[in-house]
Amino acid sequence: MKCSIEGCPGEYENRRIAHTVRQGDQVIVVDHVPAEVCNLCGDVLLKPETIRRIEKLLESQREPTGTVPLYEYA
Ligand SMILES: [Zn+2]
Repeated sequence: MKCSIEGCPGEYENRRIAHTVRQGDQVIVVDHVPAEVCNLCGDVLLKPETIRRIEKLLESQREPTGTVPLYEYA
């Protein structure tokens, strides 16, 4: 599929990404999320069902399977 960013001739390809979600002042990372990523500009598309599944996961699974180091850009 062609990239939806104006002027970008890239194509989306299926990849697994680390998707970040912000909940209040918390940043949550969900790894290996299936997404379509433009091979040129890196634009990311998530399917509506993928987003719903992430929301469900965050509601149900209170204990994360791991933690990530978080740095502020400074
Ligand atoms: Zn693009």
